[in-house]
Amino acid sequence: MSQKINLKSLSVDELHDFAADYHLPRYRVDQLLHWLYDRYAADLQEITEFSKALRDELAQKAYISSPGLVARQRSEDGTEKFLFSLKDGNTIESVLITDKDRLTLCISSQAGCAMGCSFCLTGELGFNRNLEAFEIIDQIISVNRLISPRKVSNIVFMGMGEPLANFGEVTSALWKITGLMAISKRRITVSTSGLVPRILEFPKKAPEVNLAVSLNATTDEVRDRLMPVNRSYPIGMLLDACRRYPLQSGRRITFEYVLIDGVNDTSEDAGRLVRLLRGIRCKVNIIPYNPHEGSRLKRPSNPGVLAFQKALEDSHVTALIRESKGQDILAACGQLRGDFQGKEH
Ligand code: SAH
Ligand code: SF4
Repeated sequence: MSQKINLKSLSVDELHDFAADYHLPRYRVDQLLHWLYDRYAADLQEITEFSKALRDELAQKAYISSPGLVARQRSEDGTEKFLFSLKDGNTIESVLITDKDRLTLCISSQAGCAMGCSFCLTGELGFNRNLEAFEIIDQIISVNRLISPRKVSNIVFMGMGEPLANFGEVTSALWKITGLMAISKRRITVSTSGLVPRILEFPKKAPEVNLAVSLNATTDEVRDRLMPVNRSYPIGMLLDACRRYPLQSGRRITFEYVLIDGVNDTSEDAGRLVRLLRGIRCKVNIIPYNPHEGSRLKRPSNPGVLAFQKALEDSHVTALIRESKGQDILAACGQLRGDFQGKEH
């Protein structure tokens, strides 16, 4: 018996081929797209615009994917974390951050992460597998269903995983998010630990979304220790790629800088950072380090964080302090583990 087709795994062209194979008129494809990506149908039987007979007939050949919601937690600051289970039992997390009328969903691109950054719990736990494009999009669709009538307005690829290590599926998801879910490319940010060849290829293959680069150090010696990817693509090479990155007018690259006490937070670091970023249209997001169970690294003091920001600002580098939301539910940057081990109930 042939396997049933997940309708959300098909491109628009493939959906047309599917419809043609089953002698469905073309307008059925538009209806399907509407129900999949605007109405967030989680089952063919929800498509009430189709007759019961047609729904049953389609259900013989196809289905609509829908991840299981394992848990939903709400932080004191309003941030919500969703734990989803995938069809093979892997679990991933998405985090919803509310800021006035902006609803930002932080999504995962992989189950786990292979990059091994020493300050990040996801990295410490290792890599399970790449997500498929529909699994990336299903996080947005599921959350939209759960928070209806509200709707996610912004997307950041800052959950579990290194998006550019899952290049094909992430790019294909981005085309669908911008094309079919009508979320503007200006409201989407992809964050990378610095896979240089992929950064160079990305603007050729993906819609023009915002790029964020996790820099996190100002010397190769320190960055080698924090982020093993630096041994393949050191700071000079990374910033060269950023200099060559085509930016639309008014846009800037975001550099994320996780500030860690006594590791990368000195005034010399601030000075080096200013020099390194010269000539790149950018801003810096300073993320004070979030500890997780068992971590030896420490967050700098508040005056230390402010002093680092001031040093950048004094040299005309835009620098914002980004306190991660949702620390009490382990939803903050670097705290996603994709399961509930060790959590109190
Ligand atoms: N893999 C991608 C995107 C996910 S990580 C990347 O590394 O860019 C999203 C951000 O969280 C990165 O900027 C990373 O540096 C930051 N981060 C990871 N662990 C953290 C921690 N413990 N505290 C604060 N920020 C952290
Ligand atoms: Fe992976 Fe990003 Fe964590 Fe590094 S910081 S281990 S690249 S998720």
